[in-house]
Amino acid sequence: MSDQRTSFHMTPDQFRKHGREVVDWIADYYERIESLPVLSRVEPGAIRAALPADPPRDPEPFAAVLRDVDSVIVPGITHWQSPNFFAFFPANASGAAILGELLAAGLGVQGMLWATSPACTELETHVLDWLVDMLGLPPAFKSSAAGGGVIEDSASSAALCALLAARERATGLRSNESGCDGRLVAYASSQAHSSIEKAVKIAGIGRANLRLVDVDEAFAMRPEALAEAITRDRAAGLVPCFAAATVGTTSSNAVDPLPEIGRICRAEGVWLHVDGAMAGTAAVCPEFRHLQAGLELADSYCFNPHKWMFTNFDCDCFWVADRAALVRALSILPEYLKNRATESGAVIDYRDWQVPLGRRFRSLKLWFVIRHYGIAGLQHHVRRHVELAQAFARWVEASPRFELAVRPPLNLVCFRHTAGDAFNRELLERLNASGRLYLTHTTLGGRFVLRLCVGQTNTDERHVAEAWRMIEAEAADLEQRGAPRERE
Ligand code: PLP
Repeated sequence: MSDQRTSFHMTPDQFRKHGREVVDWIADYYERIESLPVLSRVEPGAIRAALPADPPRDPEPFAAVLRDVDSVIVPGITHWQSPNFFAFFPANASGAAILGELLAAGLGVQGMLWATSPACTELETHVLDWLVDMLGLPPAFKSSAAGGGVIEDSASSAALCALLAARERATGLRSNESGCDGRLVAYASSQAHSSIEKAVKIAGIGRANLRLVDVDEAFAMRPEALAEAITRDRAAGLVPCFAAATVGTTSSNAVDPLPEIGRICRAEGVWLHVDGAMAGTAAVCPEFRHLQAGLELADSYCFNPHKWMFTNFDCDCFWVADRAALVRALSILPEYLKNRATESGAVIDYRDWQVPLGRRFRSLKLWFVIRHYGIAGLQHHVRRHVELAQAFARWVEASPRFELAVRPPLNLVCFRHTAGDAFNRELLERLNASGRLYLTHTTLGGRFVLRLCVGQTNTDERHVAEAWRMIEAEAADLEQRGAPRERE
């Protein structure tokens, strides 16, 4: 033990004091968050310009650091936890998750092996088994069957791990030994998240061997187009190995038809990965589970509690139906990691289920969330978000100047003013510049579309109603100013 008079460390008493200050700071932040502009207004470089050029030579008081959080950091924050945040997909957080995260940091566990913290591994396995039941997922994903779940940092990592397992299954582990021969082919719809393309590049499949399958008028994958593409590739001597389907695409929340896609993949021996990054949380409510019908035909599945399940970033839950296929693809056991528990074969070592070796104790925050809310609490809030988004969609439909771009299945509404792309762009800019809400856009069918996603933890009726009031008022003002209109 070093003498506290000569140590630079924070003492337990200082930690208690500053810890309370930080928790108070966070609680105050949530209380005042609606007064802050949702989208940060700083110019590029502004935050760095406000920071000292050199690091401090001598220790600084904690109060000075917290002061700079207020004066330098907060202006550069886009407030994802504002109830007026309707952009992208949410990355919602909650008190329970934040405290779970704090505890995980406090324990400072690195859970690469079962032996390096049995609770880190076993809680994760257990919570992911719970979620199989909570979300009505196929029983094959349970650890008591041949499958199992793991927490990855992101849906992107889950897709990559699924693809690596698919690659090795298709080549009998040969690509791990001698690389890909350029014949493996992967499939996803043209609406799939860009993480699939990234995974294809990283895994050595190559962008040229990713087929972007056509979609229907609801932006869902056309299964017959998938079947045709696979047939064409086989005829050309290629090896179809992986298909990614999406439940809730990023652009419009489109749901690919899993039963048909699954049957094709099964018949062709193609690994089917299903990405439910945001929409997957909806399955906590039985009435939304029809969206994932056919999931029993998937080899792997993921969704992000860090999007819509009140669990702060990062936390992606990833399941496989055959854990052996994943572990065979990713397992490496150098001498320095060998231990009796691993050799016994009785434990899970999650380092074999992911790309990095080290791993955080992420299940703690998810466990806190599930226990704090209970299934009933999670259902309540998810239902509320869907109800609010559906109400917003009805207001759009009833408006003479706006239209829905597509019927919203859940909590994402894609809509546009009828005056055309330039008008909608201008409208979006003005709304976001107001600081009072944050929306983003996409293109659907080649047209510029506004997206409003209801999923922030504290978003309630008054926020959605106020957003609609502002959108209508801003649009009326733009119309009066004679903003650009296009004939469509
Ligand atoms: N898949 C879908 C459908 C998404 O919408 C997103 C992100 O919004 C991702 C994957 C990537 O998520 P992550 O940031 O967890 O990699």
